[in-house]
Formats: sequence, structure tokens, C-alpha cells
Amino acid sequence: MRGPMLSVEEAQQRVLRVFEPLPTERVDILAAVGRVLASDVHADEDLPPHANSAMDGYAVRANETAQAAPESPTRLRIVGDLPAGAVPRQAVTPGTAIRIMTGAPLPPGADAVVRVEDTDQQDGYVRVYVRVDPGNYVRPAGEDVRAGTLALERGTALRPQEIGMLAALGHSRVAVARKPRVAILATGDELISLDEPLTIGKIRNSNSYSNAAQVIQHGGEPLLLGIARDTTEALTGKLKAGLKEDVDLVLTSGGVSVGDFDLVKEVLATEGEIDFWRVRMKPGKPLAFGHLRTCPSQGSGARPVPVLGLPGNPVSVMVSFEIFVRPVLLKMQGARHWERPTVAATLMDDIPHKDDRRHFVRVWLTWQDGEYRAYLTGAQGSGILSSMVKANALAIIPEDWDCAPAGARVRVMRLD
Ligand code: AMP
Ligand code: MG
Repeated sequence: MRGPMLSVEEAQQRVLRVFEPLPTERVDILAAVGRVLASDVHADEDLPPHANSAMDGYAVRANETAQAAPESPTRLRIVGDLPAGAVPRQAVTPGTAIRIMTGAPLPPGADAVVRVEDTDQQDGYVRVYVRVDPGNYVRPAGEDVRAGTLALERGTALRPQEIGMLAALGHSRVAVARKPRVAILATGDELISLDEPLTIGKIRNSNSYSNAAQVIQHGGEPLLLGIARDTTEALTGKLKAGLKEDVDLVLTSGGVSVGDFDLVKEVLATEGEIDFWRVRMKPGKPLAFGHLRTCPSQGSGARPVPVLGLPGNPVSVMVSFEIFVRPVLLKMQGARHWERPTVAATLMDDIPHKDDRRHFVRVWLTWQDGEYRAYLTGAQGSGILSSMVKANALAIIPEDWDCAPAGARVRVMRLD
């Protein structure tokens, strides 16, 4: 069976359109890292909540420093001390100053801070050597976020800085989409699990782990179904077991190329519905997409469960995940952006064997001499995992290029 050859975009759309946003739940903010914010977060209060000092120094009335200079300092009586966290009990009145530490609230009457470096202190008085304007070294209340404004927009993927913002605004819990549950099944008679001894003809099942790590990285919950042998019965049995676990998506790897033992599509055709395509990309040409039927008694509750049959080679499976599964996980979680950021870069090495597919080439992207440059990280065979390990980006070589010589300008998709 040879399916039609689809463009990357066409295949992405066909996959994406069957997925809907998942329900939401409230979780501790530290359980929300890497997940997607499900509702807008407005600030209930100003951040920072009160005007405070940006420096260690003296809180003063700026107009009193108008004549201050190294040869004619302004002399002010020190009437108080404000460490961080202290509550101002006293105002700065004409002729006085209050010692203040970074982060301490500005006392009433003061409108500026003079750095300690620009002063001298003696006998309860401070000599100010510089003129300062109102607002000098003062962080106004609401400088960062104003009360009532939108601080974080729903659909934002939560990184450490968003978690910090939630904490600063007093949110210990936050609404996020439920984690997409992704079952992962390896196929192949040659595969052994990680704790089995390596014997001749066998290789370790690495795909399930690289895919599971990708699922975790994008806010999902992987469920490893193990290895299915290359028989209809084994594959059907493992897939049916997976459906009992109430999953949103099943990923398989291997068994989708055109060969005698390529069973994923056969089993899908029997147990559900199958679309088999070739996608105009390299690596990752063969892709099976379909659904498995479920019964009401099963965990997944009678709805058909989408299945993506990814190719078997260790790099192809990861690149196919990037292109097809990552957008699905983000869509299910209600994310606003599905695309990886790309930059324009100069290709530093020739790309060998360019054909009429879109090539995703493993590169190290770096900024040098005023431009981004992309260096090949090694052999580009779809089983060579070490060049994936060395890569921080994928250079995208368009399908209509006959060759991709060093010096060409290309788009590069960052992976980190
Ligand atoms: P297939 O599409 O099943 O013919 O697999 C293509 C290549 O990927 C073969 O060399 C397989 O041995 C390899 N492969 C398949 N599944 C895995 C896996 N889970 N982990 C590592 N390599 C695999
Ligand atoms: Mg196989």
C-alpha cells in the first residue's frame, strides 16, 4: 500500500484537525511548568505593591539637592533607618533624610533616593554630593504590572518566568489544560527493553524513551506500552491494552515503511480506520494516521482514539514528533503558538543528497560575526542519533531546492 505524497503542511493540517482542546484543572504552580495557562491572569494589586528604593542610600526630597555638588554638599539630618521589609513610621521633612536599603518602601515626604556612594555620613548628618531629580532610584508602585491589567494571557506555555510572575502576584495555584495522555508503543522483532542483555541482531528500544521525553517536555503524560512483536496478534493485543488506559493519543514507532513486516497499517485498518501517507519530508517520509475503535466498557469511553504511526528510525521518529505530535499536544492544551521559533541563518556546510523532499537537517546554530550560522552536526542518516544529540536546531531545506550548498541562506528551527 502506497499512500499519496502530502506536503508537510497538508499532513499537519489533516492530523491537527481531529484534536480538540482538553478540559482544564487547577494545579500548584510548580506542577504547571511546561503546561499551558487555561485562563487569563489579571493582577489584583500593583507589582511592586509599593514605591521602593532601587539602591542602598538615603531617601530625600529631590528639590533639597538642587545645589548639591562635591564642593558644596547638601547637609541633611538623618531621622530614621529603613531596612528592606520595614514599615516607614516617619516622614522625610525639609532638612532631613532617612537611610534606606534596596527594596524598602519609600517613606512619605521623600521623592528620590541618593546612592550611598554619593554621600558621606557624620554625627547623625548626611552630606549629599550630587543633585538628584524626583524619582531618582525609586521603583514606583505598579512599575512592573499595574493592578487590574492582564499579566499573563491564556494559551501561554508556562516557563520559569511565568511561574515567577504567578508567584509575585500571589497565585499558588493556576488553571491549566489537563495533561494530554499519550500511549507509546514500539514495534519490531529486533527490539529489546533496556534491562535485557544485548544479543546479536537485537537493538534497544530507544524510540519509546525519546518520544516519552518529548511528551513530558510539552506538558503531556507518556504511558509506555512496551514493545509489540511483528505479528498482527501481538500488535493488536498491545494496542487494545493501551486503549484501556484512557489515552488521548497513541504513538507507535516502526512498522510503517513498505515492507513485509509493516503491520501498523494493517492492524489499524482492521481495528479502526487508517490513512497512510508519505510526507514530502526527510527524515520521516512514511506516516500512518488513523483511529482505533473502542468499546464503551473500555477506559477511553467509546470514542475513537487517534493513532499516529511514526517511522522507526531513531531520528525520523523524533523529527516526526516535532512536526506532527508537538503541534497536537499544544493544540490540545489550548496553546496560542504551535510553531517553533525560526531564524534565518547561513548554511556553513554542503547538504549532501538533496532530493525533492523538505529536509530537516541537524545543525548547531550559533551567532558569529553578526549573523546566525548553521553547522552540520555530523552524518545525517535517519538512524544517527549522535548528530541529533549534538544539534540545537533543524535547518529547513525547501523541497524545490536541487542542492543546498554551503553559503546558502536557510530558515532554521530552534529546538531549545
Ligand atoms: P521499521 O520502520 O520498523 O522498519 O524500522 C526502521 C528502523 O528503525 C530499523 O532499523 C529499526 O530497527 C529501527 N527501529 C524501529 N523501532 C525502533 C525503536 N523502538 N528503537 C530504536 N530503533 C528502532
Ligand atoms: Mg520494524
